[in-house]
Parts: sequence; structure tokens; C-alpha cells
Amino acid sequence: MIRAAAGRDNRDTGPYLSENRFLMAPKSDLHPDTLVAHAGCEPHPVSRDVTPSIHFATTFERDADGTFPGGHIYSRTSNPTRDLFERTLARIEGAGACAAFSSGMAAAAAVMQSLRPGDRLVMPTDAYYGVTRIARDLMEPWGLHIEEVDFSDPTAADLALAPGTALAWIETPSNPLVRITDIATVAALARERGILTVVDSTWTTPLLQRPLDLGADLVLHSVTKYLAGHSDVLGGAVLSRDPELPLFMRIRTVQAQMGAVMDPFSAWLTLRGMRSLGARLDRQCATAVRVAAFLATHERVERVHFPGLADDPGHAIATRQMKKYGGMLSFRVAGGRDEALRVQAAVRVFRRATSLGGTESLIEHRASVEAPPSRAPENLLRVSIGLEHAEDLVADLAAALDA
Ligand SMILES: *Cc1c(COP(=O)(O)O)cnc(C)c1O
Repeated sequence: MIRAAAGRDNRDTGPYLSENRFLMAPKSDLHPDTLVAHAGCEPHPVSRDVTPSIHFATTFERDADGTFPGGHIYSRTSNPTRDLFERTLARIEGAGACAAFSSGMAAAAAVMQSLRPGDRLVMPTDAYYGVTRIARDLMEPWGLHIEEVDFSDPTAADLALAPGTALAWIETPSNPLVRITDIATVAALARERGILTVVDSTWTTPLLQRPLDLGADLVLHSVTKYLAGHSDVLGGAVLSRDPELPLFMRIRTVQAQMGAVMDPFSAWLTLRGMRSLGARLDRQCATAVRVAAFLATHERVERVHFPGLADDPGHAIATRQMKKYGGMLSFRVAGGRDEALRVQAAVRVFRRATSLGGTESLIEHRASVEAPPSRAPENLLRVSIGLEHAEDLVADLAAALDA
């Protein structure tokens, strides 16, 4: 069978799939936690490996009759290990298809490049900084019309989602203010007007948030973060409910033809990392609740941004929309920029680094990382909770704040 590059979907079977494995069911009645625990584990029909091997080949042999019995031709268009990752993530997300990229930004760029010059793209005012930058610096000159809106304001959202808009871009929770957008409400409003919706669900993963079930058409992940989970893989993915959605077919073409594909080793490492995702998130979410509660009562903390706090503006929607509140939070230090930098300088357990979703807790002064025009408040520190003991993290922040 020759697989066409565009329009390839993740329902078809790769070279070593046993037909009746529960993981191959198109719609599984198992919990996503069970699916991630077996991520990529499809025993090879000959060797019976429990975990997958890596296919590094860039090219695949044709039969004498010209066909490709292995289903792959050249690794830019498809590779068995990347395919395994794509099928696995599609199943866990409840999507019809997945395209894996070399980074979250490559995935985001592919979505924008799959629109057409003249198309209108509505983005949140506090989208991930890099996403706003490529939209403004690269895609706007290329011809996209970009409008920014605060999706938590229903009147503004109603106005921004004008008929004729091609795509609504949602990111929730947002970065770095951890604001919550009601996916079901925005997706319904968009759908009514024939607008497609993509949700950057990086901070939640399919275990905490199900954008496709809430009416979104596409889901985007920076695989670099929680999915891979160990701060040692760069990757991205775009998933589509409908594998034949024309926008997704173009995303597939951008992936295969422009070539910012996920490499086999990163795909394998991500599958390996994903098998512990459920356990990692349980711990990270529980610890985030504990750290947020501590910060909320500290006199040197002006404000904590975390949807798990009962008085957070996103609390009610997050409670409905997310299974847990996630492992990310940010807080504003009383006294401004210098005080925030002083706290960041004084921690001993948290690592001072950007990124998120790893096993080690990270702390970062976002305004320093985002060049102007950053919207991050100057006294804001963003925290990614890792797998350390919660009380060690609390003690570390307490010491740094009190220093
Ligand atoms: C990190 C991140 C991205 C970009 O992903 P990379 O893998 O760094 O390219 C996009 N969106 C969100 C929400 C992120 O956290």
C-alpha cells in the first residue's frame, strides 16, 4: 500500500500492529491514563518486544512491483516511529489524526501556514509569547490578518469572532497569567459562524483537558513540556478530530513537504516519557495546589495566579473544564521587579530556567525572558512544579521570600 503524504490519517495500521490490541481500537472505552501507561507498546509480531524500537531509516525499500509493503517511502513524509507516536497521541487525545513536528513552534507555524493569505486569525491577547511573535513578525507580513482578543470577555469575543474569520486560537490555561478560557463557549460561538477552533493544550495534556470533546476542531501541543516530560526532548503536535478536515490536510502537507518533522529518537523518547504522564501529573497537580495555598497566605506575595484557588477568576470554568488544575502557577511579589528578581535569585531547590513540565521544578521571571513588548508583569514569577517533595518546594519559596 502506498500512503499518500497528504491525507494520511492515523487510523490506518503501520507495519507492526497486531489487529486486536486494545490500544488500536479507534475509540477506546479505557481511561486515557491507561492508554498513556501503554504509550507506543504494540508488540512486534516477530520479536514480541514489549516496548518499541526506533526506526532510524530515512528511506524504505520498494517491492519489485513498485509498491511499498511497509507503508513508508521516505522518513520526511512518514517514518514508523513517528507514525507510532502520532497514532498513540491521536488515540489518547480522542482525535482522528495527528501530525508530529520538531517543536511546538513548528507545529504552531504549520497551523498558521496552512491558512491562506488574507485569512483572519483571532488570537488571545495572552497567547504563548513565541506564538504571538511568529503571528505578528512572520505571518502578518505573509498576509494573515491577526486580531487579538480577551476570550474571557464575552462581548469582545463575540465581536472578534466576526463571520469570515478562518480560525480562532485558544490557549488555556494561558501563559504567564494562567487565565482560563471557556473552550465550549468559544468553540460553539465559532462553530455557529463557520470558524474553526484550535486549542493550545500544552499545559494540560489530554489527561487534564479534552478540547475535542468540548467542540474544538484542532489541538496543539508543545510535546517538549509535559508529554515528553523530562526537559530533554523538543517536539510538537497538531491533532484533528476529522482526519479529512481540509485545514488539517494542509497542515499534513506543510509537515511532510516543508519538513519540520519530529525525528525518530524524539518520537521514541516522547513515547517513553508519556508512559509515566499520569503519575507525574497526579503529583505535580497535587503539589501545585499545596504551593499555591502557601503563596496565597504569604505577606510578601501580592497575588497568586492559579485556577485551583477558590477566588481565582478562572476557578469555576477550570473546575468544569479541567480534570485537575495543572502544575503551573505564577505569583506577583510585593515590591516590584527587584524584589521578584531577588526571590528568584534566592531559591535553592527550584531551578532558574525557562520551560515547564519536567521532573524538576522551575522558576522564571517571565518579563526578562520575553523581550518587549512582553505583557508579563514586572513583579511576576512563573513556576513549573516538578516531582520534588511538596514541603521542600514550600520551604524553598518560604526561605527565598523571607530572605
Ligand atoms: C513551549 C510552548 C510552546 C512552544 O513549544 P516549543 O516546543 O518550545 O517550540 C507553545 N505553546 C505553549 C503553551 C508552550 O508552553
